Amino acid sequence: MSGEFDLIKQYFSRTARHPDAKARKAGVILGVSDDCAIFSPSSHQSIATSKDLLVEGIHFFSDVDPFALGHKALAVNLSDLAAMGARPIGCLLGLALPNVDEKWLKAFSEGFYQLAEKMRCPLIGGDTTRSEKGVVLSVTVFGEVSPPYLTRNSAKVGDTIWVSGCLGDAHIALECLLKLHQGLVLNDQEQWLLKKTRRALEYPNPRVDLGQALRGVAHAMIDISDGLLQDLGHILTQSQLCAKVYENRLPVSTFLRDIPIEQRRRAVLAGGDVYELCFTAPASATERLSALSQQLGVMLTPIGEVYARSEEVLAAPVMVMDEDGREIVLGLHGFDHFASSNNE
Ligand code: ADP
Ligand code: MG
Repeated sequence: MSGEFDLIKQYFSRTARHPDAKARKAGVILGVSDDCAIFSPSSHQSIATSKDLLVEGIHFFSDVDPFALGHKALAVNLSDLAAMGARPIGCLLGLALPNVDEKWLKAFSEGFYQLAEKMRCPLIGGDTTRSEKGVVLSVTVFGEVSPPYLTRNSAKVGDTIWVSGCLGDAHIALECLLKLHQGLVLNDQEQWLLKKTRRALEYPNPRVDLGQALRGVAHAMIDISDGLLQDLGHILTQSQLCAKVYENRLPVSTFLRDIPIEQRRRAVLAGGDVYELCFTAPASATERLSALSQQLGVMLTPIGEVYARSEEVLAAPVMVMDEDGREIVLGLHGFDHFASSNNE
C-alpha cells in the first residue's frame, strides 16, 4: 500500500517539475513537485478561476465508475471556464479518500487526465488526504480571459436567448439511477432510457471552445448546472430583466420524445447536470451564431427573448409559453442543496 507521496507520484504527477510543451503553451511554468505550482497568463489577460466540490452520496453514487467520476470532476469546472469564455491554463485537485484503492485511483486519474489533455488543462497541483467517510473531491480551475467579460449581468432588452446541445437527458438518467439505488426495478422503457441518457449524466462535455468563440458575440452567459429555468433566471435577475421562453423551441433529444409530458418538462426545464451553455445575444448575431454552430459542430438553438422587467413581473423572471402563446404554470425549481424540501 502506498503512502501519500507515492500515491501522488504514481497517479497525479504527469505535469511535474518540468512541464511538457503542451502545458508550457498553456502557461504552466512549474507543475506538481513543489509548495506551489506556477503559471503565467498571456500578456493583457486576466485570470478566471472557479472551484467545485463533489461529495460521495450527494454529487455522485458510491458505485459510480471511477473513470467517469474523474472526467466529471474536471468537466464541471471546465464548464464554468467555458461560461466565462476563458481559455483553460491548469487545474488543482483536492482529494480526500477513506482508503487507498489502487484500481479506483488508476481509473479515476485516467478519466481526469484524458479530459485534461483533450481540453489542454494540465493538472498542476493539489492536496491528498484521508477522509473518515466517503470520497470528497474538489477541483479548482484557472483560465485566462480578457474583456468584455461574459458576466451574468450583461443581458440586454431584445436579446435572443440561446442554448447549446440538448436539455433533459442527464436528469432522466439520474431519475432511473435513483430508482435503482432505492432497490426498485426499471421497466423495459426505463432501462432503454437509462442506456440512452446515461452518457449525458456521467460524461458531460464542457463547451470550452464554444465559450471562447462567443466572446464579443454573446452579451451574458451561464452554464446550466442547476436547470435551465434556475440558471437563465440568474442571468435575468442579475441583469434586472425578464424573458419568454417557448416550450416548442427547446432542444430535447429524441430519446425523451415518448415520456409523459410532465416528466419531460421537469427534465428539460429544471433538470440539472446539463453543462450546456445558455447565453443571450443581439438579433444581429444570428448569422454569426449559425456559422459558429457549423464550424464547431455544436447545435445552437434560439429558445426565447429578453424583455424589460415590468411592474407586474412576479417572482419568476422566466415565463415559459406553450405553442398557443399561453404561459405554462410550472411550479418547477432547479436544484438547491439547501432548499427546505431537500433532505440532503
Ligand atoms: P504541501 O505539503 O506543501 O502542501 P504536498 O506534499 O501535499 O505539498 O504535495 C506535494 C506536491 O504534490 C505539490 O506540488 C502538490 O500540489 C501536489 N499534489 C498533492 N496532491 C495532489 C493531487 N491530488 N493532485 C495533483 N497534485 C497533487
Ligand atoms: Mg499538502
